[in-house]
Amino acid sequence: MNDHPSRLSTPDLRDECLDGAECLFDAELHDGPDPEDRFEHPDARAAREDVAKDICATCPVQVACLEYAIRTKPTSGVWAGLTADEIAQLHALRVERKQFDIAFEEVA
Ligand code: SF4
Repeated sequence: MNDHPSRLSTPDLRDECLDGAECLFDAELHDGPDPEDRFEHPDARAAREDVAKDICATCPVQVACLEYAIRTKPTSGVWAGLTADEIAQLHALRVERKQFDIAFEEVA
């Protein structure tokens, strides 16, 4: 199942507070082509992701999208202006920070 905001139904967008998502009009721009249908050269993917990131930068639901992306743990696509790898790194940093905060509270 593909959970990218550009592929969600209207009720699901509403449930995730993603009404107004700017990526709805061209899902492939953010989510990429189906790898079973078409190979995407890495240079083409990088160029597509740059354009997608520009769209995310002006999207009115970018903050909600980032929280949704961190929860969803995507493996591909551009979400809230970040690639799936960048979202995974952000998630790891958050976990690390939370563990630090817990350890700090224990010694404070
Ligand atoms: S921030 Fe980007 S991926 Fe998220 S809903 Fe907006 S346009 Fe789509």
